[in-house]
Amino acid sequence: MHSGVLVLSGPSGAGKSTIINAAADAIGEFYFSVSTTTREPREGEIEGVDYYFVTKEEFEEGIARGDFLEYATVHGNYYGTSLLPVKKALSEGKLVIFDIDVQGHRLVREVMGDIVVSAFITPPTLNELEKRLQLRCSDLPEVIQKRIQNAKEEIKAIHEYDFVIINDTIEDAKNAFIAIANAARYKMDKRETEKFIKMWLEGK
Ligand code: 5GP
Repeated sequence: MHSGVLVLSGPSGAGKSTIINAAADAIGEFYFSVSTTTREPREGEIEGVDYYFVTKEEFEEGIARGDFLEYATVHGNYYGTSLLPVKKALSEGKLVIFDIDVQGHRLVREVMGDIVVSAFITPPTLNELEKRLQLRCSDLPEVIQKRIQNAKEEIKAIHEYDFVIINDTIEDAKNAFIAIANAARYKMDKRETEKFIKMWLEGK
């Protein structure tokens, strides 16, 4: 199978992980990039599945070692993507899926160029986002406010994305995501154009 890179962004509470889980059986082999963060684990979150939870000092050591493909400060905490597992998954022909913020999306595009396909996932309105964050009950009111403020900023970067998925009903959002994820494997890597043409002409 073709490998590919799919970056997902959107406010916390947009339903990104729910959508990925619902679509998991329909998008072929993929690697969900588990980020490293300095934020506290939420109830039910599992080390190594949702995130690698580390201290600020450990994170900064990782930066110094050059472990991260990209990292950013979001809501006052560090979040970063480790480079090695991403390289491995790509070499195994997997679709690599990132759930990262708009700063991370810009950095991944800089590093990985135009093989990147991206989608911004959002509830239909800011009001709806607020409702969903409150229903989740896993964040303190001030944390929810921080996320709302951040979402108001992040939405301004929506034009930087290839696709937008409005998560109104999970079924529709899932179907849109499946279409985008499967297409991401067929994105032309323009850095490989010369090689492809040569191979094509020579019939190898
Ligand atoms: P949460 O705390 O709700 O899990 O995530 C907060 C925000 O951080 C979300 O917008 C999420 O996409 C972003 N995020 C998670 N992991 C990473 C990462 O590795 N890099 C970057 N740049 N953002 C991340």
